[in-house]
Amino acid sequence: MLLGISQILGHKGERMSFEFDEVLDGLKENGINGSVKVSGSAVMAENGIVVKGKGSFNATLPCDRCLTPVEKNFAFDFEEVFLEKSGDEKENVFIINGRDNIDLDSLVKESVVSVIPMKVVCSDNCKGLCPTCGKNLNFETCECDNSYINPKFESLRSLFNVK
Ligand SMILES: [Zn+2]
Ligand SMILES: [Zn+2]
Repeated sequence: MLLGISQILGHKGERMSFEFDEVLDGLKENGINGSVKVSGSAVMAENGIVVKGKGSFNATLPCDRCLTPVEKNFAFDFEEVFLEKSGDEKENVFIINGRDNIDLDSLVKESVVSVIPMKVVCSDNCKGLCPTCGKNLNFETCECDNSYINPKFESLRSLFNVK
């Protein structure tokens, strides 16, 4: 996502809008399907260009309980200042690439990865996989006894007379 900024570069207060719909390298491993859509605006500020926008994408992630692929749409917002000069070593600041464009890829990728949840479930009622035989308990039943209690705790239970 290369944003051409020649029309606003150096013209303080000048604003432009942008829109991208691109497949970004390295996101497929995170479960992202197809392209990432992004739209927003860039404004020439005092010492750099303020880029603000929002985006969306579709991803397929395994259910945390039964591993069934779950497809979902996700949305994110982003805002970043791109500095004109590279001398500034401030953290979290992006550098304007070359004379007249800004590469939004890493900003967008960061935003995408930050909204992918650690866990998704196919349904709140998902019964998950049997820990003993691995059957998907949403579709099958099994005869496994998963109520095994660690013998150490068993003695405690009798001690407290718990049934
Ligand atoms: Zn599930
Ligand atoms: Zn089982």
